[in-house]
Amino acid sequence: MKVAVIGSGISGNTLAYLLNKNHDVTLYEKDKRIGGHSHTHEIVINNKKVNVDTGFIVFNKKTYPLFTSLLNNLGVKYENSNMSFSVFSKENNFEYNGTSLNSLFSQRRNLLNPKFLKMIFEILRFNKESIKLKSKTILLKQYLKNNNYSTYFCKNYILPMGAAIWSSDIKTILNFPAHFFIDFFKNHGMLSVTNRPQWLTIKGGSQEYVKKLTSGFKNKIRLNSKIKNIVRYKSYVVIEDNKSKEKFDYVFFACHSDEALEILKKPTADEVKILSALPYQKNDIILHTDSSIMPQKKLSWAAWNYNIDSPDDSPITLTYNMNILQNIKTKEPLLVTLNPKLPISKGKVIKKLQYTHPKFSKYSVSAQLKNKIISGKNRTFYSGAYWGKGFHEDGVKSAYEAVKLFEAVIK
Ligand SMILES: Cc1cc2nc3c(=O)[nH]c(=O)nc-3n(C[C@H](O)[C@H](O)[C@H](O)COP(=O)(O)OP(=O)(O)OC[C@H]3O[C@@H](n4cnc5c(N)ncnc54)[C@H](O)[C@@H]3O)c2cc1C
Repeated sequence: MKVAVIGSGISGNTLAYLLNKNHDVTLYEKDKRIGGHSHTHEIVINNKKVNVDTGFIVFNKKTYPLFTSLLNNLGVKYENSNMSFSVFSKENNFEYNGTSLNSLFSQRRNLLNPKFLKMIFEILRFNKESIKLKSKTILLKQYLKNNNYSTYFCKNYILPMGAAIWSSDIKTILNFPAHFFIDFFKNHGMLSVTNRPQWLTIKGGSQEYVKKLTSGFKNKIRLNSKIKNIVRYKSYVVIEDNKSKEKFDYVFFACHSDEALEILKKPTADEVKILSALPYQKNDIILHTDSSIMPQKKLSWAAWNYNIDSPDDSPITLTYNMNILQNIKTKEPLLVTLNPKLPISKGKVIKKLQYTHPKFSKYSVSAQLKNKIISGKNRTFYSGAYWGKGFHEDGVKSAYEAVKLFEAVIK
């Protein structure tokens, strides 16, 4: 079959990798590079060349089984990463880093702060109690209220954690279905102190896996090809990019839900309903070396550093410490900040970027269950990390599922 894949993120690249075995594939990518959210920058810092990622950074073997097996089949090298989390407020001179007892009390006055000590007990209580949740309908905000969790625990621990994981504002996290939130914590060993997976990162940056994954169909990738219009007929599909029009037997969407809706000439009522229940939100991202936006004490610095000074409905302010996450040694810290609240010194900015993340809600969780209502119909298949919890494993899983469905449809 002659098939088109739209988007070269993990989902589109996995699709093309699988489809290329038996079909004639063309992969369209609007950008000038392959990878989507797998985005490595080759930079020179203090006269040293380093590869640093600003999108996808970490995975683990336990909750990324398909992605790990793909990497192993391709012979991609990876190494241990370090995941740790800090929360801080510049406005209230508050900070802690959950890595060790020493860093938890990086501000020694918290040893005598009853609210802080209560928060620690509430973390242990949440870990123990939340796994018992049975309801599929209760929202996180209701769950926290019904179980009497303090505002202090919510503001300084559980909500920043969720907001950092999903790069979403606090208000959105409060409206997550509680089971969606808690399942992720449970699966990632975040509800126990001992059962945590070893996080990993690709040696040399995510571009290394992208190169290997796409090497078999490199000549079939069209870069700088923004799809503008897709018209589906009974026996074929016409795809129009910024240069030409071409006929295909089938089309696979591996771009985001909103981007798919935008380029479909005549989406069906189901497509409009389901895809628009899976919206995305923008985040500004800055790669830089300005440590003034980190917690004040070095002991409070973690791999992920969440600044709680932004209002609940504003985009989150989070800084990834790339030295810790990717084992990069540089004299100045190499940092990636989402939506900085405080200005970053101009001379310390390396790159400015923008990415969009899925904005999950009870509506999106229910729309995800309806993938098969639109996928496999009208010569169209859908994949993308947004069909799961928004991570690399979800992208790979969605690609495997779309190819399986496709093989059944054309049989
Ligand atoms: C800052 C950041 C950090 C992250 N860290 C992690 C992490 O550590 N671990 C993890 O598992 N996940 C992480 N993620 C989540 C990440 O989004 C997913 O893991 C995954 O990479 C998303 O893949 P995707 O294929 O669904 O979409 P994308 O990677 O976004 O790919 C979609 C592609 O479609 C292309 N496209 C869109 N419209 C068109 C069009 N009209 N024509 C042609 N091409 C088009 C886009 O240019 C893009 O290349 C992170 C995300 C961000 C932004």
